[in-house]
Amino acid sequence: MLISIVIPAYNEESNIIALYDKIDTVLIGYEYEVIFIDDGSTDNTLDVLKALCRQHSNCHYISLSRNFGHQNALKAGIDYAKGDAVAMMDADLQHPPELLIMMIEKWQEGYDIVYTQKKEDKSRNFLKREISNIVYSLINKISDIKIEPNASDYRLVDSAIAKIIKNNTESNLFIRGITSWLGFKQYKIVYNPSKRFSGTPKYTFGKLAALGLNGITSSSVRPLRFSAICGAVISFLAFLYALYAIYIKLFTNEEIVGWASVLVSVLFIGGLQLIMLGIIGEYIGKVFIQSKQRPNYIISESELD
Ligand code: UDP
Ligand code: MG
Repeated sequence: MLISIVIPAYNEESNIIALYDKIDTVLIGYEYEVIFIDDGSTDNTLDVLKALCRQHSNCHYISLSRNFGHQNALKAGIDYAKGDAVAMMDADLQHPPELLIMMIEKWQEGYDIVYTQKKEDKSRNFLKREISNIVYSLINKISDIKIEPNASDYRLVDSAIAKIIKNNTESNLFIRGITSWLGFKQYKIVYNPSKRFSGTPKYTFGKLAALGLNGITSSSVRPLRFSAICGAVISFLAFLYALYAIYIKLFTNEEIVGWASVLVSVLFIGGLQLIMLGIIGEYIGKVFIQSKQRPNYIISESELD
């Protein structure tokens, strides 16, 4: 029984050794391999990885040609994982390695996916926390899959699930969405996230926002339907207003005046149209990217084959 542990690392030079040592002490008695993915780091992450992998035969690294993002780095690791179960975790020790034991046990009990949920992370930036709450509730409202708030990318899946992810050819991967969409027997572990061991968070606001938007638009086309419904509602209101205007004109002596209402409605409708165009554009962009069928990542260096 081999356990693969896939760890994307972007500028994590100061965390890698500590993380490996921790995993090594936790998984004593288990047969396991650790696959680090250097996601185009600009610090010494790759050198640290190379040195570590020279020392330990169960340590492997894959170096991507540039920064492809966390989700794609995860995919790279899963593609090369040979284990009977594949675990995915962050490189900054926020995902406590101790949990691996419980995950493995649950998997041995017959669960196909063991995923984790963070207890409210007080150390996390207030704005980041709120944004992720909003995004999760949006995803859950408008798509057919349910993702629990505070879900994290710390999970262990059976090799059968890993194979499904390997065979997935989506350009915009959202692994959290895929795993909950898959179904199978899932088990949830709630845990207290630790503080980042060292270094700064690599998910900038931009990256987080892009991940959220991708999460919404890659799991549902309901935003498109929403534009159609909005259009219908507004047309209906405009029709009612027209009836009212005709009534005033024909049956009363009053006159409807006001450039303000005209301006406001024109601007409102104009803005709404642009938003809807943006939503449509988001999907067309996805189709465009997907149709090019570019790989999710490019490996520049690795000792795996
Ligand atoms: N990461 C990555 N590529 C990126 C951004 C992040 O491989 O472009 C990795 C990072 O090294 C870490 C994990 O993804 O192992 C989670 O990143 P981070 O700790 O910054 O996110 P947070 O804990 O704030 O969710
Ligand atoms: Mg982190």
